[in-house]
Amino acid sequence: MKRALFPGSFDPITNGHIEIIRRGLALFDEIVVGIGINTSKQAMFPPQQRLQWIEETFKEEPRVKVRIYTGLTVRFAREIGAQFILRGLRSAPDYEYERNIDLLNKYLDNGIETFYLLSSPETSFVSSTLVREVIRFHGHLEGLLPPHIIRDIYAIYPGGKPISQP
Ligand code: ADP
Repeated sequence: MKRALFPGSFDPITNGHIEIIRRGLALFDEIVVGIGINTSKQAMFPPQQRLQWIEETFKEEPRVKVRIYTGLTVRFAREIGAQFILRGLRSAPDYEYERNIDLLNKYLDNGIETFYLLSSPETSFVSSTLVREVIRFHGHLEGLLPPHIIRDIYAIYPGGKPISQP
């Protein structure tokens, strides 16, 4: 059984993450989406909300599981029996960032291998950080997030519907 951990903040999950998970399912038997709680970073959405959105997105795909974790990613991977970590790469800065994490993870635990998938042109400009900006400033979210999450966000942010349509 090949199990991969897909770690991140998913604040919120975007179509970019979703694409990587879907393609990852061709490589692994099971993907555990790990919502890492970063104590030094103030999140926009509570972990439970982020988990529920991801579960809803993959409700028809039993091979995708969702967990919340704290602490070292490699340690959590061991805990859940994942031999692999899955990450997405959008650009050269992503590569530089990921390379350091990869080296650190190998230093901490050499037995866990990380696999990288390049994002598609349609989603390579999408990041949770930019999506949060769009939410804050009431931009339109269609195409960046799944419709059920957009619906919830509009409900959470009353009057949060987009001010300008393209
Ligand atoms: P982090 O908080 O470490 O930046 P994120 O939660 O943003 O992580 O993302 C988790 C993983 O998903 C990372 O490997 C990141 O590179 C990848 N990712 C994020 N957005 C995209 C995208 N649009 N296309 C492909 N991969 C992405």
